[in-house]
Amino acid sequence: MSPRGRPRIEPPITDRPMSRQRAWQLRMRLAGRCMVCGQDAKTRGLCVLHAQANTARVKRWTIQNPPTRAARDARNALMAAIRRGELVRPTVCSVCGVKDRKINGYHPDPLEPTRILWVCYRCLAAARIARQIARDGR
Ligand SMILES: [Zn+2]
Ligand SMILES: [Zn+2]
Repeated sequence: MSPRGRPRIEPPITDRPMSRQRAWQLRMRLAGRCMVCGQDAKTRGLCVLHAQANTARVKRWTIQNPPTRAARDARNALMAAIRRGELVRPTVCSVCGVKDRKINGYHPDPLEPTRILWVCYRCLAAARIARQIARDGR
């Protein structure tokens, strides 16, 4: 969450018409309600129950799709370098230039741990999907 409170919600990047489900999610999120059930939200547009369900889903996914050894090593080295102060986490996304989001270090190729892409969560998701498509063709 940004220091100014609730994160800004941008319209979707595509010019496809927004699905009814997506429209509902955005409306609920903007109203500070759960995107799933519409009850009062505690964090990031999810109520306590659905936040827990979401965490469980992410955990399950991580178990089913474990990071490769190289990816884990690259990530650990990156985090250690940030802790030691050798690397400073930028404040601007290197892809879209957004400033008020947390910037994550991403390794487009874990076998090249020195090549780090500093991106916001949106560009991170896009980069991950791009890599998955490049790898599995889907
Ligand atoms: Zn809910
Ligand atoms: Zn970005």
